[in-house]
Amino acid sequence: MNFNKNWIYVVGPCAAESKKQIFISAKKLKKHGVHIFRAGIWKPRTNSNAWQGIGDRAVEWLVEVKKKVGIKIATEVKDKRTLNLALKANFDLVWVGSRNGQNYAFLHEVGLMTKKTKTPVIVKRAMATSLNEWIGAAGYVARNNSNIILCERGIRGYAPDTRNILDLQGAYLAKINTKYPVIVDVSHAAGRRDLILPMSKAVKACGFNGLMVEVHPQPDLAKTDGFQQINFRKFSQLISALKKLK
Ligand code: PEP
Ligand code: MN
Repeated sequence: MNFNKNWIYVVGPCAAESKKQIFISAKKLKKHGVHIFRAGIWKPRTNSNAWQGIGDRAVEWLVEVKKKVGIKIATEVKDKRTLNLALKANFDLVWVGSRNGQNYAFLHEVGLMTKKTKTPVIVKRAMATSLNEWIGAAGYVARNNSNIILCERGIRGYAPDTRNILDLQGAYLAKINTKYPVIVDVSHAAGRRDLILPMSKAVKACGFNGLMVEVHPQPDLAKTDGFQQINFRKFSQLISALKKLK
């Protein structure tokens, strides 16, 4: 898939919670034309006592989703061990999350470990980085694997109304100053459902390469990031609205 030419949707729940939840989600999302199914297996939580994700056993669940539903699978890798598991299981894409977005040693390792397969690596922007630092982070992966997608996911601001500030300006500069496709994670930028649709429209209108969106069968029951996840109905409305924007 040429990520620079096609509009990419990386969509799915914040976290894999059960086999049933990810199967239902992947099937629905595929029907809506989603190409890449996302689900966090190893969740990097702020609170060390919080639920840390299903862990290793969800790798097999996602592999089954890929085979049975016929959709590409992506997850967040947080260290060499989890990256190794994802690569062994033939994940189609992996991403480095915001919390590791300035972990240069790991970013370098990600490049090395994906050198042969050229697995696409989504490099999320660390939450308090400048454009230069974000592009620099991608550079560590690119030493060995330049199959990179940059993902803007909001930067820290002072207003408590949104989880982060969606920096479309910075993301646009990343797009025109690098050769990498740039996608935008509207869910982590907003931290709230009511902003997902309007911000997605803005992303499409600006000419970015795609969106990351968190979608859950029952967002209010989600184990993580419930406030920002949308249900299938809302996602279907988003797809229709974006189709109208050329
Ligand atoms: C995620 O995509 O699930 C996630 C944790 O995002 P971020 O690293 O951008 O906070
Ligand atoms: Mn999340």
